[in-house]
Amino acid sequence: MSSDLKEKVAIITGARRGMGKSHALRLAKAGAKVVVSDISEEECQKVVDEIKKNRGEAMAVKCDVTKKGEVENMVKQAIGKWGRIDILVNNAGICQFKPFLEITEEEWDRTININLKGYFLCAQAAAKEMVKQKSGVIVNIASVAMGQQGVGMPNIVHYCASKGGIVGMTEALAVELAPFNIRVNAISPGAIETPMVDLLKTDPKTMEGVLARVPLHRMGKPEEVSNLVLFLVSDDSSYMTGSTVVIDGGWLAG
Ligand code: NAP
Repeated sequence: MSSDLKEKVAIITGARRGMGKSHALRLAKAGAKVVVSDISEEECQKVVDEIKKNRGEAMAVKCDVTKKGEVENMVKQAIGKWGRIDILVNNAGICQFKPFLEITEEEWDRTININLKGYFLCAQAAAKEMVKQKSGVIVNIASVAMGQQGVGMPNIVHYCASKGGIVGMTEALAVELAPFNIRVNAISPGAIETPMVDLLKTDPKTMEGVLARVPLHRMGKPEEVSNLVLFLVSDDSSYMTGSTVVIDGGWLAG
């Protein structure tokens, strides 16, 4: 494996906790200089402290991905400190469980704004720098809820719409950015143990229902997804672009 990220600069959104935090720790361990960004800078700083304790390099930046000014500032800070951006992991997202007939227009807009528009804003701001460098890698975190596999997921219609949009965006970006030597791929995780799915764990019936559909019969760990992120941002995946890789314990195959 050539997954040595020394001298690489990586931005990870939604990185104060859950999978984003795990990706930040993993990429820093592989040698990358990491921008840990999320809505709360204080929480990001805790992740930065952990990275520094392990002799890694990182910086905390407050960034609400729905706000263009904050996204541009995040990129500016990364360039100001380290002079380049090699990797963007679009990870920040929300998932609200609610029956379709009860979802309000505001709730629909909030999900699409964070999960889809946020990815667009971050990808565009980072790609403007990557185009100048003529190199870069973007990984978009989608979900098995992306559709296209014949597995519809109830009570998260707005979430499914946003994740399906991410897959389409990934393919289009891969084609448009390939001439600049920028690769763009997506990852679709199944049920992963993070605060986002805590709700599932509090209801044994829902949990049983989910695990019954997962052939490996357990939830995934954030670190298992981080290993895939590392592969996709490293030169080991140098011929991959426009792909969506599923990591779900066999859920979609079952
Ligand atoms: P998580 O623990 O809830 O982490 C998501 C992070 O995103 C939180 O720190 C959250 O901050 C942050 N965030 C929310 N809105 C934001 C905004 N506007 N700007 C910046 N950051 C924002 O969830 P996770 O499970 O690690 O999810 C990470 C990604 O994986 C998401 O895109 C999710 O859809 C996807 N995913 C998760 C699963 C799963 O089973 N866990 C499965 C498939 C895909 P706050 O806490 O302050 O809101």
